[in-house]
Parts: sequence; C-alpha cells; structure tokens
Amino acid sequence: DIYVSTHISCVCMCVFVWACICACVCREIFALDPDLSSSSEVSYRCRKCRRTLFRGSSILSHPVGEGASAFSHKKFSNLTGNAQCTSYFIEPVQWMKPSLLRVMHGQLLCPKCSSKLGSFSWCGYQCSCGRWVTPAFQLHHNRVDEIRQIKMQK
Ligand SMILES: [Zn+2]
Ligand SMILES: [Zn+2]
Repeated sequence: DIYVSTHISCVCMCVFVWACICACVCREIFALDPDLSSSSEVSYRCRKCRRTLFRGSSILSHPVGEGASAFSHKKFSNLTGNAQCTSYFIEPVQWMKPSLLRVMHGQLLCPKCSSKLGSFSWCGYQCSCGRWVTPAFQLHHNRVDEIRQIKMQK
C-alpha cells in the first residue's frame, strides 16, 4: 500500500499495476458517460435495459490474432481455426469507475440493470481471436446492441 500513501489521488495497489492504473485513474482518462450526453455517433446499449454504455469511438481495435493456435496452451475443444473477436475491448467509461477502483480484475455489470456485460483486468485478457489486450475492458458482443442514429433531430 505504499503507493496509495505516496500518490494520494491514486488507487494503485502494487508495483505491477502501478503504471496502468495511474494512467487511467489519476489522469482521469475515463470516457464521458454516453448516457449523460447526446451524440450522433454510433452507440452501444445494454441489450437488456437499453442503457447507453459506450460510443463507437471508445472501441479500441486490435489486430486479429492467430485464433485457436494462440490458445494452444489451453485445452479448448470447441475452438475452430477461425480467428474471431466475440468481445468489444473499449476504453474505460465513467460508469465503470466504482468497480475498477482498487481491484485487479472483475466483472463489468450494467450500471442500470446489473446484468453481466463482460469483465475487466488491468493485467489484460486474451481476446477470442488470440490477441492479448492490456489493460482489458471487455464487453461481450451478445450483451450489447449497436445503435446507429439515422435521424439527428430530437
Ligand atoms: Zn480479437
Ligand atoms: Zn442493463
């Protein structure tokens, strides 16, 4: 806990995650909560309660990995050779903040209906395509709906 005391505004817990937690929490790079502002951008909603969760610009794309071969150290029996991403990796958004503080990894729940949307890890996760993403804020494709706004009038 030495870092907590030396960096007062910081929630860092250990040397290992010091850099990334500081980057995200201390410098307040959480993306604005899209539920609190309107935009013509593509947005993504909770499939269950339709709460807006993040915008298209928050998605952090990564080069598709090698697929099943990247998981050769694990025993997945149902993997095909096709590399496919089944999750969105996004930048942290403000509504995640309470669940991100002081923990290394955990679930990401909808801020409105608390249904499970995905998970996060400051140390990163391996996408279904095989690529590692660090830190990872991962929301499953089948838990969110993409909303494209065609009309810009209110
Ligand atoms: Zn991927
Ligand atoms: Zn919800």
